[in-house]
Amino acid sequence: MSCDKNCDTCATSDNCNDKALNEQDKRIDTFLSKVKHKLMVMSGKGGVGKSTVAANLAIALSEKGYNVGLLDVDLHGPSIAGILGLTGIPLNADGDRLLPYQYNEHLEVMTVQGLLADPDEALIWRGPLKIGVIRQFLADTKWSELDYLIVDCPPGTGDEPLTVIQTIKDAQAVIVTTPQEVSLSDVRKSISFCQQTQLEILGIVENMSGFVCPDCGAVHNIFKSGGGAKLAAERGINFLGKLPIDPQVVDSEDIGNPTAAMSPKTKEALETVVNNIIEKVK
Ligand code: ADP
Repeated sequence: MSCDKNCDTCATSDNCNDKALNEQDKRIDTFLSKVKHKLMVMSGKGGVGKSTVAANLAIALSEKGYNVGLLDVDLHGPSIAGILGLTGIPLNADGDRLLPYQYNEHLEVMTVQGLLADPDEALIWRGPLKIGVIRQFLADTKWSELDYLIVDCPPGTGDEPLTVIQTIKDAQAVIVTTPQEVSLSDVRKSISFCQQTQLEILGIVENMSGFVCPDCGAVHNIFKSGGGAKLAAERGINFLGKLPIDPQVVDSEDIGNPTAAMSPKTKEALETVVNNIIEKVK
């Protein structure tokens, strides 16, 4: 279809489409120019605790007084709303801009879950639609001026992380893994992905690293331990710390309040990871 009116309102021709995209680029740039640090939380595999790390990192930073935005771009399996107890609460808008959830005084959250009438609904979207939604979350959300934007990406190296990298040029990756080889081999792919796309890797977090028996205090390395640190050392990547297996993490997330019952040992380990991140982004 062609259009020679060059108006602001329609996007039916390539011209108008380009214009709309340019306008969106400008809004994205305006927002990102005011964000000090942009962290992409990635993993090679699903289920390793990437969203858990993203959510807890966001909460911990916000509790230190930093202004934090947490953006869930795991569009096919968003879990941030569930972890933070936001499921079923619809997102609001102010004019044509979406209002993020205000989780606490310093933490704003945006997730596709807030746009779904049924939280169990599956999104059957191909690349272009996913790219459009992620760009819209960046361009058309009424974010505050942020110290940290934390992006929870789906596992792997698909459209979503690629879109984030192409849109947020100065993002840094936080790669989450569990210690066993099956997860580490996928992390090597994540590292290769970061290198090929020139995404700086801030560091690796080893999650589910050892289980401290609450009865006898003995440490059981159910998924082994130390694999993440070893890989980081081999590749010359920062090791940001390790988090133990903590059944109370599951309980806390299941009630939508991640820090509610978290054990002191996990809190301490998380504090180390967060402090390392604050140190490294400087
Ligand atoms: P991912 O985002 O990598 O798919 P999630 O963060 O959704 O993984 O975590 C998957 C499951 O593992 C969740 O039930 C979560 O509560 C649990 N989990 C994550 N980290 C830990 C941990 N350190 N100890 C115990 N359970 C954990």
